[in-house]
Amino acid sequence: MIDPSRALRQGLLGLGHSDSVRRVVERVPVGRSALRHLVAGEDTAAAVEVTRELLAGGRLATISFLGEETADVAHASRNRDAHLAMLRALRDEGATRGGAAELSIKLSALGRLLPEDGDKVALDNARQICEAAAAAGTTVTIDMEDRTAVDPTLQVVRDLRADFPWVGAVLLADLRRTEADCHDLATPGSRVRLCKGAAWPQPDAQSYQDIRDVRRSYVRCAKVLLEGAGHPMLATHDADLIDIARSLADKELRAPESFEFQMFFGIRPEEQLRLVHAGVTVRVYVPYGDPRRWYRYAMHRVAERPADTRFLLRSGTKKG
Ligand SMILES: Cc1cc2nc3c(=O)[nH]c(=O)nc-3n(C[C@H](O)[C@H](O)[C@H](O)COP(=O)(O)OP(=O)(O)OC[C@H]3O[C@@H](n4cnc5c(N)ncnc54)[C@H](O)[C@@H]3O)c2cc1C
Repeated sequence: MIDPSRALRQGLLGLGHSDSVRRVVERVPVGRSALRHLVAGEDTAAAVEVTRELLAGGRLATISFLGEETADVAHASRNRDAHLAMLRALRDEGATRGGAAELSIKLSALGRLLPEDGDKVALDNARQICEAAAAAGTTVTIDMEDRTAVDPTLQVVRDLRADFPWVGAVLLADLRRTEADCHDLATPGSRVRLCKGAAWPQPDAQSYQDIRDVRRSYVRCAKVLLEGAGHPMLATHDADLIDIARSLADKELRAPESFEFQMFFGIRPEEQLRLVHAGVTVRVYVPYGDPRRWYRYAMHRVAERPADTRFLLRSGTKKG
């Protein structure tokens, strides 16, 4: 039998790769605003403006440059330079002070998938970004892009942490291995972002297949991180998981600045502010990039919640 949610999701993901549909969406004001509220905009200035507003309202930010596909070393260098320019702009704005605005970076944008020395190219580029972040007084988190590349990605985090102990790692609760990774990474000062992982079940033996098991795994992992000595970054929009994590943090007598919740820009902004008003630290993931890339990112976000598509389109004019 055809699963309508799955069919809708696949359709939305397919549209995310269509340039002609993107051009139509960009021209139609409703379509544009419905998707545009999920991204800061196209360039550094737009991301800085959104960051300014978030910080003024008591939220923190992690800025993500949407530049996944890297064709060659020169392209990876251009992407690195875009990150460096972003850090300069944030620093000039005073937004990097105390790590209020940091960067989330994707190793693929820095060259990881290049056929020759990709890992080395990406590590060198990431290192330069970390040096600039350190000079600006802020931090960097390495996104987990590819669930089949957890070990190499965590290896890069370990390599960088030798010089920059504040580099953030990302772990995915839908992977069976993650609880053990949480134990490994719950060390003093260790910044770990915990996510659910894939928004739909992955047909492999490494992953939990049932969303209830993913949520149970998320709770176990959050408990390990919150009981540990690191800085847990609980990235979820799931109201139940947020409540459970807050109770666990209370039980551990965690100070508000010793852990944080993270959510995507434009998703559940009212909940983000409710948490801030309750004294909880909230960091917003702010993507920016050229229209082709932000369109694909935004369609991916919509595809994650096919059932919420109408709700999302209705909320298209709200700001993040
Ligand atoms: C800050 C941040 C960073 C992330 N980094 C990574 C990463 O590096 N690697 C990686 O693989 N994954 C990453 N993710 C994605 C993550 O793994 C999940 O796929 C994603 O967050 C969805 O899981 P959820 O916990 O929000 O739960 P969901 O079950 O998707 O959402 C819970 C509830 O939130 C609301 N909601 C969620 N999404 C929407 C939406 N699009 N529109 C409207 N309402 C919505 C709904 O009410 C929903 O019932 C990140 C997520 C966040 C928030």
